Amino acid sequence: MGKVIAITNQKGGVGKTTTTINLASNLSALGKSVLIVDLDPQANTTSGLGCMDDENTVYELLLEDCELKDCIREMSYKNLLGTRRITLIPSKVDLAGAELELADVDERVYRLRYKLDPIRGNYDYILIDCPPSLNLLTVNALSTADSVMIPVQCEFYALQGLAQLLETVDMVRESLNSDLQVEGLVFTMYDPRTNLSKQVIEDVKENLDVYIFKAVIPRNVRLAEAPSYGEPVDIYDRMSSGANSYRKLAKELIKKG
Ligand code: ATP
Ligand code: MG
Repeated sequence: MGKVIAITNQKGGVGKTTTTINLASNLSALGKSVLIVDLDPQANTTSGLGCMDDENTVYELLLEDCELKDCIREMSYKNLLGTRRITLIPSKVDLAGAELELADVDERVYRLRYKLDPIRGNYDYILIDCPPSLNLLTVNALSTADSVMIPVQCEFYALQGLAQLLETVDMVRESLNSDLQVEGLVFTMYDPRTNLSKQVIEDVKENLDVYIFKAVIPRNVRLAEAPSYGEPVDIYDRMSSGANSYRKLAKELIKKG
C-alpha cells in the first residue's frame, strides 16, 4: 500500500509547493510511482508542473461529482538521464470557494479521502500540496493522509505557528484519522552564510520533539526559476544545489520507510 503525505504549513511561502514538485520528481527518478494532488486554489503546483488546462480539476472532483479518471493528468519530463513521470490532479482558483460550498456536503471532512480511496493503492506515494491555511481543505488533506511533512523556512519566525500546526495534527488524529503521523520537518531556504539559519534549526530542534530530515534545502535561485519553465528542478538544472538537496530528501524519505 502506498503512502499518502500531506505537505503542509499554514504559513505562506515556506516551500510547500517547491517541496511537493521536487520531491515527487525525485521519487519518480528513484523508480517510485507518484501522484500529486494540488489542493491549493493558487494552483502553483499545477502551473509549476506545466499543466495549463483547468477543466476537471480537484475542484470538480470534490464538488461536482466529476469522475476520478477524468481529473488525472499524466505528466512526463525528460532530461539526459531519463524520464520522470508524475500523475497530477490539478487545481484552479475556483477551489477558493470550496470552503463555503463544502459546508452543505455530508461528511465534508472526508470528501477527499472518499474520492481518492479507489486509487490509493495504485501509487507508491501520493503527495498533497496544501494551501497556506488550516481551513477545510487542509483538514481534508489531513483526514486523507498517512503522514504530514512540514517545510519550515529558515527565518526568524519559523517556530511561530508550528506548535499550532502540530496541535491541529493531534486533533485530527484524535477525531478524524487515528493513523495520522508526523513524517517530519524539512528546513528550506537555508543560507549557510548566516548564523540565523543555523540558529533557527537549533531552536526548532530544542523546542519540538519530531523527526527532522537530515536533508536541508538551501536557498537556490534555480528552485525559484524552474516553475516558470513548467519543470521540476532536476530537469531544469540537475547539477544545481537545489536539485541535489531534493534528491537527498527523496532518498531519505524512502529509506525512512
Ligand atoms: P504558499 O504558502 O503561497 O503556497 P509555499 O509554501 O508553497 O507558498 P513555495 O511556493 O514553494 O512556498 O515557495 C515560495 C517562493 O519561494 C516561491 O517563489 C519559490 O520559487 C521560492 N522558493 C522556494 N524554495 C526556495 C529555495 N529553496 N530557494 C529559493 N527560492 C525558493
Ligand atoms: Mg504553495
